[in-house]
Amino acid sequence: MDPLKALADAERTPYWLDQPGAPEPSPRLTNDTTADLAVVGGGFSGLWTALMAKERDPSQDVVLLEGKSVGWAASGRNGGFCAASITHGLSNGMARWPDELPTLERLGRENLDEIEASVERYGIRCSFERTGEMNVATEEWQLDGLREAERAARELGSDQLYLDRDQVRAEVDSPTYLGALWQRDSVAMVDPARLAWGLRDACLRMGVRIYENTPARSISDEGDRLEIATPHGAVRARRVALGTGVFPPLLRRLRHFLVPVYDYVLMTEPLPDDKLARIGWRNRQGIGDSANQFHYYRLTDDNRILWGGYDAVYHNGGLIKAGYDQRDETFEKLARHFFDTFPQLEGVRFTHRWGGVIDTCSRFAAFYGTAYGSRLAYAAGYTGLGVGATRFGANVMLDLLGGEETERTRLRMVRTKPVPFPPEPARSGVIQLTRWSIARADAHEGRRNLWLRTLDALGLGFDS
Ligand SMILES: Cc1cc2nc3c(=O)[nH]c(=O)nc-3n(C[C@H](O)[C@H](O)[C@H](O)COP(=O)(O)OP(=O)(O)OC[C@H]3O[C@@H](n4cnc5c(N)ncnc54)[C@H](O)[C@@H]3O)c2cc1C
Repeated sequence: MDPLKALADAERTPYWLDQPGAPEPSPRLTNDTTADLAVVGGGFSGLWTALMAKERDPSQDVVLLEGKSVGWAASGRNGGFCAASITHGLSNGMARWPDELPTLERLGRENLDEIEASVERYGIRCSFERTGEMNVATEEWQLDGLREAERAARELGSDQLYLDRDQVRAEVDSPTYLGALWQRDSVAMVDPARLAWGLRDACLRMGVRIYENTPARSISDEGDRLEIATPHGAVRARRVALGTGVFPPLLRRLRHFLVPVYDYVLMTEPLPDDKLARIGWRNRQGIGDSANQFHYYRLTDDNRILWGGYDAVYHNGGLIKAGYDQRDETFEKLARHFFDTFPQLEGVRFTHRWGGVIDTCSRFAAFYGTAYGSRLAYAAGYTGLGVGATRFGANVMLDLLGGEETERTRLRMVRTKPVPFPPEPARSGVIQLTRWSIARADAHEGRRNLWLRTLDALGLGFDS
């Protein structure tokens, strides 16, 4: 089908945030106030931090400051793959923290279990479906990687099933599939905006004071308290947690570790049963393909298909702009790839197209730290896999702020930082060379050029 025709009526806004039921924003901060804990950022990172701070000690006075509205950024516009992995996937974890991996995998599974329990406990209607994720191979060279991943997963006791060509096509029928690895229990599909709105509601019910449209401008040390300045008032807090994602950080040192990478998504109209039956997909798992430039896709509760990924775009200079959320070149490419994958869906139309910005760091898994004598903690760098992992990061921030030594804070993953990106203009050069090399590797049976091999040897990378 002509991708332009399929895209012709697609709204230029994130589907999830365009649904009915978005909460009225809480009032902005208009006076000076105090708090035991001030959380900056109303994405998953900040919301989980505020909520779990209250769960740990309900008597604490917790304030959350959000510059726009809760969940408007990455947290409300992502693919909704809520993964157990806190290492940005098994192979990244294996490459970086092999000794810790059994612990990291267990902590990740516990984290996903606890997300499921919280969704249940607070009655969050976010269509949580623990259907797993199927990584499909669409080129012969990708099959070896899947088999290797299956072996490693089996050693770690993870429930993964290798499917050959016929088996995968019996699950979901695409003529492009050659095999797959289905992680059956370690990924859930969620409606991310409804998860963010539900967490906001849970925070309010627990007594967190939320101020939206309240950007934090700066932090200063006022002796016994840290003071966060906002346009119309300040918060003087004993402790501060930063869940500000990729946005210009209040702590300058974080700038060296994060780059904004844009990722793009399409959403189809709901598929009637007869159309969906053409591809099967009865087990409703999330799907990702296995090239370096990969697509991710899944069903929604009303049987639309969300189709995203592939292009990971870094704009030279590292700017974040609302205009970058739209990229027609990428939308057309994604639409073409969609019909290549599912030619049976000829005639299906897209209702939404959007983009969002990802907090990419050079090790792909988040990093953590403290400042101001451990009165401030931060977690960032989730690199496209933060729907579940932000809750783990929130727990790390609370451990660090509480001065507690825990299994989490003892992890090497938590104690170390990623390699910083070089300053501009070298930063843009390095990233664009890496993007070019990745596309080339995909076109040449996964063969990595000298540049990528050098980065691999140094434990550095670029991903979405
Ligand atoms: C298109 C797309 C698809 C993705 N798909 C997936 C997926 O399927 N699975 C997955 O695991 N991950 C996915 N991700 C990544 C995931 O969405 C993020 O890792 C996660 O949402 C990060 O949450 P966060 O709270 O750290 O950041 P954000 O959601 O970006 O929230 C940060 C918040 O902080 C606020 N803020 C920043 N600075 C200030 C300030 N100074 N004062 C006040 N407020 C401030 C911002 O306004 C924002 O609301 C995707 C991301 C994108 C963009």
